[in-house]
Amino acid sequence: MYSFSQLKSALDSVQDELIQHHFYDHRLAKINVIWVAGYGIEYGHQQYRASGDIVIYSLSKSKLRELFGGPYVSLKDILRHEYAHAFADTHRSLMQTAAFKQAFWTHHDDYNTSWHFDPTLFVSAYAASSAMEDFAETFMYYLEYSGILPLKFKHPAIQTKWTFISMLSKQQKINTDV
Ligand SMILES: [Zn+2]
Repeated sequence: MYSFSQLKSALDSVQDELIQHHFYDHRLAKINVIWVAGYGIEYGHQQYRASGDIVIYSLSKSKLRELFGGPYVSLKDILRHEYAHAFADTHRSLMQTAAFKQAFWTHHDDYNTSWHFDPTLFVSAYAASSAMEDFAETFMYYLEYSGILPLKFKHPAIQTKWTFISMLSKQQKINTDV
């Protein structure tokens, strides 16, 4: 179970990473992160195409699953993932490009297309569930590894997705520098 102070410190460091990679612009700064001291099904979620807020639960079914051998997910990774959705939500035109479709194989809001998980094509099993989750999972690792592709992800398909996020970061740098 997470405490509020754990969330606060994870949030500080993830916002720092977002600043470093030029993603934390005025639009992302408007996103509220809401802490629910209670139970949720998922670790958290982002109110996509609604308020935009990120909601994190102190206890969740996903967290409990870790006690029974499920994969461990850190609070920072949860925040990195949800901020990816928030970035996509607040920068919709950047997701509606040919480059996005080329990297993620379908448009961002296509909820009907999923794939079989193949570790040479996706950074995680969850990433294979839809293009928007693929984007969020790749973005999460991009922040975690500070933009440097780790060897385990050195596969052409993952590299293309990684490059897309790196291009976004470069584009954001130009936009936020002026
Ligand atoms: Zn997600």
